Amino acid sequence: MILLSVIELLKKLVEIPSISPLDLGCQNIIGEILVSLGFKVEKILINKTSNLWAEHGKGKTFTFLGHTDVVPPGNIKNWNSNPFSLRISNNYVFGRGVVDMKGSIAAMIVAVRDFIFRYPFYKGRITFLITSDEESTGTDGTVKIVEKLIQRKEKIDFCLVGEPTSEFILGDVIKNGRRGSLSAQLIIYGVQGHIAYPHLFDNPIHKSILILQNLIKYDWKDKNEFFPSTQLQIYKINSSTNANNVIPGELKIEFNVRFNPKTTVSKIKSIISFLLDSSNLKYKLNWKQFSNPFYSKPCKLIPIVEKSINSIQKISTQVSTSGGTSDGRFFSNMNSEIVELGLINKTIHQCNERTSISDLKALVLIYKKIICNLFI
Ligand SMILES: [Zn+2]
Repeated sequence: MILLSVIELLKKLVEIPSISPLDLGCQNIIGEILVSLGFKVEKILINKTSNLWAEHGKGKTFTFLGHTDVVPPGNIKNWNSNPFSLRISNNYVFGRGVVDMKGSIAAMIVAVRDFIFRYPFYKGRITFLITSDEESTGTDGTVKIVEKLIQRKEKIDFCLVGEPTSEFILGDVIKNGRRGSLSAQLIIYGVQGHIAYPHLFDNPIHKSILILQNLIKYDWKDKNEFFPSTQLQIYKINSSTNANNVIPGELKIEFNVRFNPKTTVSKIKSIISFLLDSSNLKYKLNWKQFSNPFYSKPCKLIPIVEKSINSIQKISTQVSTSGGTSDGRFFSNMNSEIVELGLINKTIHQCNERTSISDLKALVLIYKKIICNLFI
């Protein structure tokens, strides 16, 4: 097992249909390899989520962060092969999770193995945190393990998240921050009645049009050099009436706010409540889950990552904060320098998810170069 190539290891991981939040044994394969490399491995099951924490060495700590869970395959008919078996064709490998992110995990493991074989007495500590609920609720994975690590007074100096950040060429984009996300349900009340007598009733759809415009168009004035301005997007509107002769009694609206770290959750809540209160509507607002934003100031790790990519790929790298949320946010509570670097994200969550074999091999070299540049 310890001598598997990156493709052989990826094949073993892809063959396990670990649809989020299940791991179904992927972490046993990873744990077995890490134990044979001398890592101390801890498995922490929280509800249905499997987590693995592994550590090796002493000193400044570098953590590889990843997840073994994958999204469902979608319509199997749209796949050219079984999504849970690795298909190799023309320098490409196909399968659910090859990019997001079993490919990165295989590359991390092989990079660390090659590094430890070459430099058994390196000065530093390498750790892995692998979870299995990143693609679902994210409630029993990284967030809980980071809480445990903080209780134990662990210090993590550097954290590399293997999420697929590359856009066109491996390593062209890395991420050092993400916007926050906050969702809500808004109910606007009216008075139900016959549509032919609108003067007798109160149509909540008509009343809501202006206020929804105000919410969408609100200028948050928080754009800066690192993040775009906060944005509100409505994703669902439902009056629950199908009859063409009924004015509905209420309108349910759901929206999501992607926010710049300059704007706090409490500020967003108070501004939206203020806009609604000043509209004279009868309404109810239920705030739902939120994810905190993070921003990691380039210090030591990010320049090393850029240099390591350049030495393998001969390209320069864009440091970005775009895209959805990632588990990297939980490490900002540990004051770690965080960077995300992984494969090309063009086919993630799609049918026929794929990566080139040459990118996988290059990712092994880049990850290894990063640890060499940190610890040698
Ligand atoms: Zn992912």
